[in-house]
Amino acid sequence: MSGTLHPQIASREATSHILKAFHLRASKRLGQNFLIDGGIVRGIVEAAEIAAGDRVLEIGPGIGTLTQGLAEAGADVTAVELDKKLPEVLAHTLAGYDNVRIVQGDILKVDIPEIMGEGKFKVVANLPYYITTPILMALLERRLPITRIVTMVQKEVAERMTAQPGGKDYGALSVAVQYYTEPEIVLEVPPKSFLPAPEVDSVVISCRVREVPAVRVRDERLFFRVVKAAFGQRRKTLSNAMKGAGFAKEEILSAFEGAGIDAARRGETLSLEEFASLADALHAIENA
Ligand code: SAM
Repeated sequence: MSGTLHPQIASREATSHILKAFHLRASKRLGQNFLIDGGIVRGIVEAAEIAAGDRVLEIGPGIGTLTQGLAEAGADVTAVELDKKLPEVLAHTLAGYDNVRIVQGDILKVDIPEIMGEGKFKVVANLPYYITTPILMALLERRLPITRIVTMVQKEVAERMTAQPGGKDYGALSVAVQYYTEPEIVLEVPPKSFLPAPEVDSVVISCRVREVPAVRVRDERLFFRVVKAAFGQRRKTLSNAMKGAGFAKEEILSAFEGAGIDAARRGETLSLEEFASLADALHAIENA
């Protein structure tokens, strides 16, 4: 399997040629912005620290640009693509790579444990931007045996994923991503690295999945209910937002007291540890 046998897909010329040859147009609806920059493909593969034999789930292989980089690095790739027109293209662009398997389907609907089988794996993707958050949340919440997620996302989404308490970017996505992983922005990617160029700046983010979550909580579902309530109505104080989300007034006030948190604070100022203390205090009251 050598690079000389497989011309790089990651260039403007090769991508235009492949799209033309198969009478295809990039679909805006499916978030199709194909990478045309070989340096970025290499950067993603390096950030994922791919070693020969690593099992990788790729989401949205498109015409196979990133898939080729992963396959050349020796990964054992399972790539899930929604667009029914693309498996035929991929059979052509990735012909000869026996370490790639294409699954046609919607990543939000396919049974990931079934297609990935036993054992740990990495997720590597240039995600379709219209469903970035649902995909990330589904991957994290299902507690799949993922060791790392390395993905292209809109810069603004990466800023939310890595945001610290106190700012406008800090929200439920920041808490969930940081609860399960250690996110780090590794590459800035300009619009001209894609065909067609998206209207937004992009970055590659690497999220190393933690062996145990960042904070210990007694009831994870309750923890995330509190987090969602806190950010559901950002203008309200946390206690009012929680009332709005259906928590009982007396329970909320004793939980704040138990956790030593001022009930007049806004959700966006609470650290993960403070959300955990509040959820644990509520749990103790509900189970008293
Ligand atoms: N990986 C390719 C690249 O880097 O050039 C294509 C990336 S493009 C930004 C996103 C890809 O995700 C497209 O091929 C699109 O058809 C696919 N896609 C969109 N929605 C999807 C879904 N729900 N499940 C799986 N793939 C999806």
